[in-house]
Order: sequence, then structure tokens, then C-alpha cells
Amino acid sequence: MLTKVSAGPVSVVGVSVGGVYTSLLVPELDTIFDVGIAPRSFVGASNVLISHGHADHVGSLGSLIGLRGLARLPAPTVYLPEEIKDDVEEAIRALSRTQRRPLEVPFVPMRPGVDVARGDLWIRPFRTLHSVPSLGYALLRKVHKLKQQFLGESPAEIQARKAAGQDLFRVEDRVELAYVTDSLIDVLDSEPWLLDARVLILECTFIDERKSRQEAREKMHVHLDEIIERAETFRSTALVLMHFSQTHQPAEVHRILSQRLPEALAARVVAFAPERGNWPG
Ligand SMILES: [Zn+2]
Ligand SMILES: [Zn+2]
Repeated sequence: MLTKVSAGPVSVVGVSVGGVYTSLLVPELDTIFDVGIAPRSFVGASNVLISHGHADHVGSLGSLIGLRGLARLPAPTVYLPEEIKDDVEEAIRALSRTQRRPLEVPFVPMRPGVDVARGDLWIRPFRTLHSVPSLGYALLRKVHKLKQQFLGESPAEIQARKAAGQDLFRVEDRVELAYVTDSLIDVLDSEPWLLDARVLILECTFIDERKSRQEAREKMHVHLDEIIERAETFRSTALVLMHFSQTHQPAEVHRILSQRLPEALAARVVAFAPERGNWPG
């Protein structure tokens, strides 16, 4: 029932149907993005990033924690917008009471622009534009790059400078992956650095004239028209589109995307939808 795609250097596994459920696992980054459904194969991941409090993104958090318990694993660390932390925590406390079993869940409230370190990665939350408090997340690494003025020098010269204790490096953020849902596409204007993420996962709820661009905006979602309009601005190795409306069958999503996307962008777009059959469930 799960969809699995390759996106540049990583894979993305899971389910995403707009308004129904979205939950994606990126195993290489040990991270689950949203928990609208809790597939049993997600049990090994120890980090969950929640974008917002709509049920199709957070409704199965209790089930995921239960899966981990069944496997005798601690609850995952749950990163979520600070505005919903108390409510989600209270929901899990209530579940803990109904089960007569304590659930110890580490919740980490996130604020836009405040990076949080996680092992060798950083999580960068940013404000998305939805009808409730919502965040997108980027996972990035801080990489050391030789400063511009030393670029032409030989290894021996660099070595000599190093030995003399000179500061040769600058630190650059390398955004490995960014996750953007549910939001107006305008988030790409307020956070233009997202366009340089190696992998960009972006919602694309509506894809043809059955919902106009204006209707999509009123629902605070992205329309494919808006992605096409910006086709030349995307610089990611892979652009994963997901959160498609169930109005469309999966095969139809693939067909419409291949018909409508300009060639240069189509080569980098990965449609996160089953190749055939119905949406899972
Ligand atoms: Zn949604
Ligand atoms: Zn939503």
C-alpha cells in the first residue's frame, strides 16, 4: 500500500492523499514527515516532524507511538509548531489514560527561524501559509568550504596556511531536504532559499481546471498552475509533488503532470502517487 520513490540521494516512502492522510518516511534521514497514517514499517524511525494540527497530518500520532511501544522502542521525538504543542501533548496524555499505560513522548516545540540541532543535522522550521498555525521544515548540514580568496591555491599552500593557524574556511548551510505542506505557494517568495534545497517536497493538491487556482488559494493550497508558472525558478535535484486531491486517480495524476509540466522541470519532478490502481486504503 505504500508508495516508494527515489528523490536525488534519498528515498521517500509513505502515503499522501490531500485531506485524507499524509505521512512520509525518509529513511536516510531517519525522519517521518507528518503522521496522518502510521504504517507499521515506519516503526524504526525515531524522529517525527509535524507540519500542523489538521487530522490528515497528525491524527495517527498515537498509533505510531503504539507501534514503537509494541517493538519495545521508545516513543519518537516529535517536533511540532509551538502553537499546537500543548494540545497535541494533552491528546497523547488522554490516550495514555484510556490505555492505562504511561506514554513518555519527547515533544520539541518549534518556532520559525530557530534552528534545532539533531545529531549531525539541523532542523530549520519556517512559516508556511495555511489556515491554522503551520510550519515547513528543512534538514540541513553545516559544511565547511574554503574561503573564496584561497580557492586557486595548491594543496601545499593550503597546508602551509593551515599549519600557520589561519582561518581558511567558511561555514555554508547545505539544505539536504525541505518539506513544504500545506501552504500557499507564496512561501517560496518568503523563503526563497527553499528553491536550492537538494530535494524539495512540495504539496500540489490541485492539478487541473476542476479546481481553479483561486479556489486552491482560498483553501490555502498549491495549484499545479502556480508551479508551472514558476518552473524556471526550481533548482532542486528532485522536486517531489504530493498531497494530491483524491478527485484524481493516481494514474491520472501521472498523466496530467507529464502532459502539463514543461520538459526541463518534468525531468526533475517525482509524482508521489501510486503508478496504478486506487489511492491506498
Ligand atoms: Zn493536508
Ligand atoms: Zn491542512
